[in-house]
This record gives sequence, C-alpha cells and structure tokens, in this order.
Amino acid sequence: MLILKKGKERPILQRHHWIYSGAVASLSPCEEGDLLPVHSHEGKKLGLALIRKGRSIVGHMLAFGEETIEEALQSRLRTAHVLRRRWVVDQKTNAYRLIHAEADGIPGLIIDSYNDHLVLQISHPGIEKLKELLLKLLITEVKPKAIFEKSTSFMRRKEGLEEVRAHLYGESHSEVQILERGLAYTVDLLEGQKTGFFLDQREMRSLIASLSYNKRVLNCFSYTGAFSISALAGGASHVDSVDSSRTAEGKVKKNLLLNGFEKASHQFFCEDAFAFLRNSSFPYDLVILDPPAFVKKKEDIDEAFRAYKELNRMAMEKMGPATVLLTCSCSYHVGEELFQNILFRAALEAKREVRIIEKHRLAHDHPISLFHPESSYLKSLVLYLT
Ligand code: SAH
Repeated sequence: MLILKKGKERPILQRHHWIYSGAVASLSPCEEGDLLPVHSHEGKKLGLALIRKGRSIVGHMLAFGEETIEEALQSRLRTAHVLRRRWVVDQKTNAYRLIHAEADGIPGLIIDSYNDHLVLQISHPGIEKLKELLLKLLITEVKPKAIFEKSTSFMRRKEGLEEVRAHLYGESHSEVQILERGLAYTVDLLEGQKTGFFLDQREMRSLIASLSYNKRVLNCFSYTGAFSISALAGGASHVDSVDSSRTAEGKVKKNLLLNGFEKASHQFFCEDAFAFLRNSSFPYDLVILDPPAFVKKKEDIDEAFRAYKELNRMAMEKMGPATVLLTCSCSYHVGEELFQNILFRAALEAKREVRIIEKHRLAHDHPISLFHPESSYLKSLVLYLT
C-alpha cells in the first residue's frame, strides 16, 4: 500500500495521474511495476497506482476510487474507442491513436490502430504486467484483426526495459495499408519510427494540402512522405522530400505509387536536412520542417535550442518573399513558449520579418486531458515570411 502525506491527496482527487515521491508518507515492500492501493493520510482509498521505486514520479494512478483494475481499463478503453469511432474514423480514414497514455487515462501505454491492426507501445513495467488483461479487453472491446507490440521508445530504454517487437494476436502480416482523409499509406507495424506512422500530424497534413495548390514545396525529415503526398494531393506543382534515411526513400516511393503520384513532379534527396538547407538554391514557396525530437532529456535543452534555431534560421535565410514555413517540434521538454522564442531568435538572425498565421491543430485522437495537461508535446507554427 502507498500512503500519502497529510493534505497531498488533492491532485489525485482531481484525477491527475502522477504521485511525486515527495507526497508519499509510506510505501509497503513491493516489486517494480506492482499495482498498489493508494490511501490518503486519513485512510481513505483513492485508487490503484503502478509503482516505480526510487523515481521522482513514484506512482502512476490507473484506477480511481473503488474501481477494480479490470473495470478501470475497460472503462478507459471504451471511452477512448467511442471518441475515435465517433469523431475520427469515417469512410476515408481508418488509422487512429486509440490510447494516448494519460490523456486517455492509461499512463505508460500508447495504442495505435491501423486499419484494425493494433500496435501497443508500452513504456511502464507495470503495464507490462497487465498485458494479458489488456489483450483480453482489447479483443472483446475493440475486436481488432491483429495486435502487435512495438515497445522501442527512448523512454523505455531510459527506464532500462528491453525492446519488444512482437506479434501478439490475429493476422500476422506486419505491413498494412491505411487510409487517411482519402490518401493511402503503407505502414510497417514492426520496423521504422514509433508505431509506423505519425498520426499526430493529421490536421497539419490537411492544412498543408490546403496551402499547396500550384506551390513548390520542400518537405524536410520526410520519413513516409506523408506531408509530400498531402502537398501533391493539394495540387503542388513540385515537391522535394529530404530524409537522411535510405529506408525513408522506399517508403515515400511506395506511398507515391499507392496514390497514383508516380508521375508527379517529386524528388527524394537522401541527405542531412541541415546540409540540404545550406546547399540548396531554394526555389520553394512552402517549406516543412518536422524533425525528430532534438531533446529527449531535460539536460539536452541547450543543444536542442541551438539545433532548432539553426534549422529554422537556415530555412528563413533562404526562403524568398511571401513564402510559408510550417515548423514543428515534438520535443516534450521544449514548451510552446520556448519554441516560439527559438523561432524569434532564428528570425532575428536571418533578418526576416515573420508572422504566425496558424498554430498547431490537435488531431482529435491525440487529446490533452484538462486534468493532466502535461501530456502535451507537439507544437507546430505556420509562419509567413514577408
Ligand atoms: N515528418 C515525418 C516524421 C519525421 S520522423 C512525417 O510527417 O511522417 C523523423 C525523420 O527524420 C526520420 O525519418 C529520420 O530518418 C529523419 N532524420 C533524422 N535526422 C535527420 C537529418 N539530420 N536530416 C534528414 N533527416 C533526418
């Protein structure tokens, strides 16, 4: 059992998921990842938490009040599934994030659904222990065609957990075709970045499509080429995709073909995006910078500041007048205010006048709980360069 210090129960009563070590009066002997009852100092049961011993966040609440763990997980899955089925999935979209960790009430767990093939990403040893129960609930509640696990996140490595890539249930082919707003993409469920596709940028892809008509577009850090495909679908006159990975090239080509863009005006550059920006002659109207997280640990923030600033400064220096830049950061430790400040510095150094014309739109399957706003990580700004 975990007993809180006097007066420390308020965040939990307000359904915040984290218990900081400083709030704990006592913790009974237990194993890493055990599920323990949490009580207030006065002895009131507050729910069940997964334990990480010796961490600053020592408990992650999974059930509140008198809920059993099965009731809690079943209710979170149902609620999450309803939101996606009602507001994300339609005849043109069949890929979505089903569980977005704390935002859907299950810390340490991400589940993406690709045309009814689920991919679990587990980052908490306590969720590992609940895997059997989770699988049972997913099969009855969501009725997927297949379930895979791809637990390879940086967080997991940091936590000392080994990587897992496994087929857990149902159909075993790990490459599936998905549809997003009428565009088709191939997703490799076990290889590649994250769970295979960046579902969190759905709204920004639609925005890029709406801005691309008759424009020359540069997509840096293109990965599957999802932004490039959206730009072509929006009528771009030419798109260049840049990614340092050879495998990304294969993915972009496949996706171009799937959408009938094999003859479209598109070129892939297997290059470092920084070098490309330095050397390119820049005839682009619209530039997309959606890099991987430059800062994964809080300690790396200065280095990340420099990397984001350099990247954006180089683009701003090269871009012509009356052009648009979509610039993103998925670094959790770079907040919205800091990101905007980095862009301000980049604009000053590039001696460009820059206006924000649009801000990140959340994809509805990547919500942020009002009760746990810390789960926000992705920021995008659409900038107009005079
Ligand atoms: N924008 C993508 C997601 C980016 S994932 C999308 O919408 O789907 C990050 C990508 O950046 C990966 O494909 C990785 O290969 C690539 N990458 C990482 N560092 C890079 C660099 N310095 N130059 C170019 N590409 C890089």
